[in-house]
Amino acid sequence: MQRRLLDILACPIDKHYPLQLIELNASGEKIVDGVLSCDQCKRYYPIIDEIPVMLPDELRNKKEDIEFLTRWKGKLPAEMVSSGLPHHLS
Ligand SMILES: [Zn+2]
Repeated sequence: MQRRLLDILACPIDKHYPLQLIELNASGEKIVDGVLSCDQCKRYYPIIDEIPVMLPDELRNKKEDIEFLTRWKGKLPAEMVSSGLPHHLS
């Protein structure tokens, strides 16, 4: 996603704005891998292959979330990895 998209994205659950961005792999203004997080409801939204996954809990892919957290856990906040919503590592 383009970094400037951050200016218009809000949490799909509670509409909180702005979201926090952690860049894991960026190329210029393009975020290839990263995560958006909501300070209000403690949900995170992975950015995978440039696509932010901004879905409600019931449509999230648990396997994909777990793989994402496992891949990037060394670069993500410990709280997100251990207790972030909707899925976290146990
Ligand atoms: Zn939220």
